[in-house]
Amino acid sequence: MRFEIVAKDAMGRIGRLQTPHGTVETPALLPVINPNIDFIPAHELRKYGAEMMITNSYIIYRSRNLRERALKKGLHGLLGVDMPVMTDSGSFQLMVYGDVEVTNEEIVRFQNEIGSDIVTPLDIPTPPDAEHETARKDLEETIRREREAEEIHESYGHENLLSIPIQGSTHLDLRKRSAEAANSINGDVFAVGAVVPLLDTYRFSDVAKIVLTAKSVLTPARPVHLFGAGHPMIFALYAAMGVDLFDSAAYALFAKDDRYLTPRGTLKLEELQYFPCSCPVCLSHTPEELRRMEKGERARLIAEHNLYVSFEEIRRVKQAIKSNELFELVENRIRAHPYLVQAWREIRNFIDVMERHDPSMKRVFFYLGRESLYRPAIRRHHERVLNVKVDKDEIVISSDPGVKADFYLRPAFGVVPAELMESYPAGHAEMYDDVEDEAYEVAAEGLRRFMEKHRDKRIRLVLDDRWRRFVNVQD
Ligand SMILES: [Zn+2]
Repeated sequence: MRFEIVAKDAMGRIGRLQTPHGTVETPALLPVINPNIDFIPAHELRKYGAEMMITNSYIIYRSRNLRERALKKGLHGLLGVDMPVMTDSGSFQLMVYGDVEVTNEEIVRFQNEIGSDIVTPLDIPTPPDAEHETARKDLEETIRREREAEEIHESYGHENLLSIPIQGSTHLDLRKRSAEAANSINGDVFAVGAVVPLLDTYRFSDVAKIVLTAKSVLTPARPVHLFGAGHPMIFALYAAMGVDLFDSAAYALFAKDDRYLTPRGTLKLEELQYFPCSCPVCLSHTPEELRRMEKGERARLIAEHNLYVSFEEIRRVKQAIKSNELFELVENRIRAHPYLVQAWREIRNFIDVMERHDPSMKRVFFYLGRESLYRPAIRRHHERVLNVKVDKDEIVISSDPGVKADFYLRPAFGVVPAELMESYPAGHAEMYDDVEDEAYEVAAEGLRRFMEKHRDKRIRLVLDDRWRRFVNVQD
């Protein structure tokens, strides 16, 4: 097994991915290194927290000088690193320029010959909102190339890993078809592609639908890479939807434009009076000092900050998975932008998928707003309580914990057996007073189903005024 899952929360996981150049812990961020531009050198990336990087094999292939050096010294020798390096194939150039001067076979062979740790076929990145027929034809060609890549890769012994892109534009039926095909190909990493135009325009919901659709089909045994996603504001959100690998040139591209990354969004250097960060760059400079610097020096420092803050967020996500608080972190992070809230709400349509992955036992349940209602723990509780055996002929259900009863009512959870009032999740849930109506509606629906199930019994309800508004009682 090349990918071992060691911890899970929501649909996120901490995993260990084995490559020829060592094991990488996921979720991981792969900074993009452009072999033509010496901005932040590849060998320095470990300092910021990188365990793997990604570079473009097509850029190397196209330049005679780089190509010859890579074939002679290997990819790692060319970049001067010993950590795992993934390579992209030129698909991005295909999307931007509409054409590339290499075939799938040539670029897959080339990546194998220079010793890439993760090889990527030359897939067709269909842009968002393409005509269905165009996207379908592109996808069929992508699948053909993936099968061809599989065969070539096997001929090299399959010691390094093979990435299988998931395409289909914004058509979810095609993304599903792509994921089904990917399961049947002997690859090691699934790569959800062509989402950069969506991320650039904050269409986080569309990306969420694509990721969740793919995840509902893909085998959980292999890691999922979200190609071109590298802003720290989206790591928690998409990690919770099951993304294991992120990559991006954002740290460098944004820096060259005086844009400063934070987990709550992008800030412009010109608008900053203070740095809300304690990385070495921010501790030793003020925004004003940076503004007065020469452009190249300033871009380099902002890029360093961007890397520090991105890896800090990756570690925060990992810790949240480890302590089963990823829902809490996501519900916190999405407050940074309305479209992030909207994106997270997509999980309502994928509750079954979420439920398959999310662990059922945790320590805490912090109710942080109506998005907390989508957590599988609530639906699981509702199902479980319907199966609780009740021997008595009369059941007392009370909304007041001070009254002696067989069952108690809690917003969101609904009916809670008295003996579970100290157990996870209902008994451990911390909620604020005056929680929103939706939490009562969800609870009232649970109560209705419970009463329906036990309609042969006498049920006595002790309800306060707030509960009375949501529960239909016939005296
Ligand atoms: Zn900083």
